[in-house]
Amino acid sequence: MRPPLVIGNWKMHRTASEALALSRSIRKGLSVARQVEVSLAPPFTALGTVRDIIKGSPILLAGQNVYWEPEGAYTGEISAKMLAEIGCAFIIVGHSERRRLFHESDEAIAKKISAALGAGLRPILCIGEAFPQRQKGLTNQVLARQLRRALKGLGKNAIRNIEIAYEPVWAIGTGRNATPDQVGDAHRLIRRTLGHLFDENRAEQTRILYGGSVRPDNAAELAAVDGVNGLLVGGASLKAPDFLRIIRCFIPARR
Ligand code: PEP
Repeated sequence: MRPPLVIGNWKMHRTASEALALSRSIRKGLSVARQVEVSLAPPFTALGTVRDIIKGSPILLAGQNVYWEPEGAYTGEISAKMLAEIGCAFIIVGHSERRRLFHESDEAIAKKISAALGAGLRPILCIGEAFPQRQKGLTNQVLARQLRRALKGLGKNAIRNIEIAYEPVWAIGTGRNATPDQVGDAHRLIRRTLGHLFDENRAEQTRILYGGSVRPDNAAELAAVDGVNGLLVGGASLKAPDFLRIIRCFIPARR
């Protein structure tokens, strides 16, 4: 298993000059963190700036979205090759904001994952149930369906290059995180489903992150849940001290 991954999703926040300052502060505060993989996902317009700031540090660059075609007349879209060339290692795919606001289907997400893998990027596939689905007891069904559809048609080895983020829709940006028990249950279900889709060994090695209202005051208990291999952080990644405190939850205390 690779080290835990903590990724900051800046969404549509920070201009390039603001991103420069934020990434510089994060880099400065991170000099000791080698036991954790850290990634920043700024808006497209700040990718080049952030890449230059994090160069030579353990921080990896991530994109927030990708289009599946390699090139062509797709105004406003960005290809996986473009993201790879600018220095991205990861690409967030299937975020609930993209599913909900931009009507992304599981089929579109599957095409994005294939395109990302083809360009050597590691997709971070976001899945999660909406609150009414949880209330109706459909969480496991929803998560398994999203995984099945998004990962359809991939070879057995593909999962080695994919991370999964469990992000309950009702926890994103609401200040209401899932409880450790809810997170543990969902992560077990996800790992079991990956075991069926690929194989158990590979499923054991897959990093499954939790995301949804992670803050410095709840990160440690979420990070400690069995089967949590990292965190996807939105709002709290926009403040360097908060993001750094979250990252440090994965660094064993020195004796
Ligand atoms: C996210 O953007 O994926 C996210 C989890 O946001 P927040 O941490 O703000 O809930």
